[in-house]
Amino acid sequence: MSIFTLQIDDATPCTKCAEAVPLLVSHCPHCSHVALHRLTFDQFFGEMEHGRIVSAKTGGLVVGRTTDEDDIPMYQHVKGNVFAAVGLMQGGEYLMSKAASIAHRERIDQINAVKGKAPASFPISLTALCSVINTNLMPPWSGIWIDWGQYVVNRFATAQHFEELEELNADVPME
Ligand SMILES: [Zn+2]
Repeated sequence: MSIFTLQIDDATPCTKCAEAVPLLVSHCPHCSHVALHRLTFDQFFGEMEHGRIVSAKTGGLVVGRTTDEDDIPMYQHVKGNVFAAVGLMQGGEYLMSKAASIAHRERIDQINAVKGKAPASFPISLTALCSVINTNLMPPWSGIWIDWGQYVVNRFATAQHFEELEELNADVPME
């Protein structure tokens, strides 16, 4: 009988001083810098099983939450089967896939340079290119699972250029 075992690190590097920060503490023991929220492999997939983390790797319009604040945690695999919250985004922003972020970086930079007050809502069409990552019915602190390098486009630019963003995102197939 084979037994599935998994090597899980018990620490991640401090984002400020790079010293090891044990998973069980909230601040770096060396420099006191606040540590990212981290989950082990089994904790992370437990959260997914309960629907408190969803994959956002396809890219798409992120919806959910009621405030204008960044309040949707983005998780990435750090290393050693440990996942960490690496940032926050908000509903109304467009998350590009990793492949589209790389392929269309220049155009997305141009689009994202447009800043302003985002509309409360805008119409979307349920076309074959439509991708929506919906956090509306998830608990307030639940989050999304992203790849390294996925581009987040601000809400105003998303509303202004929504159809083009959908085309750019769907233009590059997922690997
Ligand atoms: Zn540190």
